[in-house]
Amino acid sequence: MNQRMAKFYYERGSFKVVKMLLLSMIELSLVPVLLGLVLYDQGLGNPVYPKSEQSQGRLIILYDNNSNDYRLKSSWGFSCLIKLEEKTILFDTGGDGGILLYNMRVLNKDPKTIDRVVLSHIHGDHTGGLWSLLEEKPNLKVYIPGSFPQEFEQRVKKYGAEVVRVNTSLEIDRGIYLTEEMENGIKEQFLLIHTSKGMILVTGCAHPGIVEIIEKAKTTTGQDVHMVLGGFHLFSRGKKEIQEIIHSFLDMKVQMVAPCHCTGDLAMAMFKDAYGKNFIKICQNTPQLCWGDEWPPSPLGGEG
Ligand SMILES: [Zn+2]
Ligand SMILES: [Zn+2]
Repeated sequence: MNQRMAKFYYERGSFKVVKMLLLSMIELSLVPVLLGLVLYDQGLGNPVYPKSEQSQGRLIILYDNNSNDYRLKSSWGFSCLIKLEEKTILFDTGGDGGILLYNMRVLNKDPKTIDRVVLSHIHGDHTGGLWSLLEEKPNLKVYIPGSFPQEFEQRVKKYGAEVVRVNTSLEIDRGIYLTEEMENGIKEQFLLIHTSKGMILVTGCAHPGIVEIIEKAKTTTGQDVHMVLGGFHLFSRGKKEIQEIIHSFLDMKVQMVAPCHCTGDLAMAMFKDAYGKNFIKICQNTPQLCWGDEWPPSPLGGEG
């Protein structure tokens, strides 16, 4: 081999080395990107919540289209009051402020004790009661989904209330979380109560799909959802579809269900069959759910 040929091979060899080095550098830099994509795909790209808890609390439905309590007014919509150790949160406000305040009076719940309001989505049957409440208690902190119109925010602020737009998953009190908005035509956010024994997921209308919402709650918190409470939005679904949804609940290890509002009679009956004693028939005032020393959350029945 003459000198020129030898140089050529040498250069080819070094090119190979450089090429290998370049490729391995690209591959190495791709590893975190690919890993990130996998983690993101599994929902782990979202912030994982700290492990704070609400060890004591109770929840009562103030506004629902179903009622067992003859003293209360009932109308299409949803609102529930969540009494925590230090704070009281109203989740949704029902459609009519007059009915909301009337029911609160009957149940001996003072609007002035409410610290925070969380609105799940823009529909009137969840937001309509807010204005009457703000007249009674203007200095509220109101959590609205990030997509709410500017005019809505301005109207709330006119009462003197503070508005928090929720653009990402958020801890609003110790162990109380809001998911970031989900969308399936209508954008909606959800509330999670992290208790010492498990997670309670509270839904308004569940427009993005109740199964998808549970998945979201699981991936963003890294916890199983113990109980799902609120509107499941299954009133237009057939038997087969509902059966599949119930299977998904069981696959996801949801232990208890307390559906109401827009869940629909057929879905209610099928969930009751599937969950037995772990199905809680919840509607206005009855039962109240308590969590704390005893677990699972126990229906108390009646006001307290
Ligand atoms: Zn709705
Ligand atoms: Zn609704």
